[in-house]
Amino acid sequence: MVEFRNVTKVYSNGHKALDNVSLSIDKGEFVFVVGASGAGKSTFLKLIMREEVPTSGSVNINGYELNTMKRRDIPYFRRTMGIVFQDFRLIPNMEVYDNVAFALRVTGAKERDIRKRVCYALSMVGLSSKIHSMPQELSGGEQQRVAIARALVNKADLIIADEPTGNIDPAMSVEIMELLNHINAAHGTTIVMVTHAHDLVKQYDHRVVVLRDGKLVVDSKDKDAVIPFLNENEHAAEAGYYEPPNEFEDVEAFIRNYGKSSMRPEADFYASTQVEIEEDITVSADDGAVIDSTNGESSPSENTEVKEDE
Ligand code: ADP
Repeated sequence: MVEFRNVTKVYSNGHKALDNVSLSIDKGEFVFVVGASGAGKSTFLKLIMREEVPTSGSVNINGYELNTMKRRDIPYFRRTMGIVFQDFRLIPNMEVYDNVAFALRVTGAKERDIRKRVCYALSMVGLSSKIHSMPQELSGGEQQRVAIARALVNKADLIIADEPTGNIDPAMSVEIMELLNHINAAHGTTIVMVTHAHDLVKQYDHRVVVLRDGKLVVDSKDKDAVIPFLNENEHAAEAGYYEPPNEFEDVEAFIRNYGKSSMRPEADFYASTQVEIEEDITVSADDGAVIDSTNGESSPSENTEVKEDE
């Protein structure tokens, strides 16, 4: 699912951000990536997302060999993963429903299928009641849950989370972590999470990858092996604050990253039927319930507020 083979990344200024990193992450794993500021964590994620390419070595994600991938295939490739950012990256002038739906609209999905999937994703993150809220009306934790719903809505089986609790208060951070943990446990979704929240890392028995000066120095589920590195990095990690550019600040940017390569912002999202989505879900209004069935039920429950088809 994620395979790095002897990956070295040297930026144009000569800085070696990753140094001969090899690792593989299997389907269903939950992996924390930790390390002091400057250790190479963001570079690691950028290579997974194909925002950067290695200087040497190779990266294979979800069966895509990224070194040789054509630029026009990148948006299709990125749809095979859900990405959750520290700063949420919701589109500010779109209500919650549309923020999540947009991830499907850019794929050309049918509006009827979009509605089912969006309601399902929002119920999974416990936000069915906020479906028509605007992002700025939500707390940080709620905005991050919308972003997680957006990451889930394409049924991606790999979620990349870049410091997902970095901008929210500690109590909410625990909730977000629990939600990601639940998604991993209940659905087998592979999760790769970069974090500075070492207290959260210590509470779970997940695999921990420690980067230091671009080198992979620990890769273990064994707390005895991991905790000394977490303690050693505590202060350096707190000092670091990764602030990625907001590439979803507008609709055009979202399409550039995830849409059909030919798509224009004004494109008719509703007419296209390019992507068929499996009809295997039902939707309930009960927040937090795990809803996944194959009984062929296709309409949302009466209690769930949904947008009408255009
Ligand atoms: P982390 O996410 O662990 O803080 P990064 O992957 O952002 O680490 O950075 C690793 C090292 O590479 C740092 O020393 C950083 O300054 C450098 N670096 C990151 N991005 C670039 C870039 N685009 N150009 C030059 N150097 C960079």
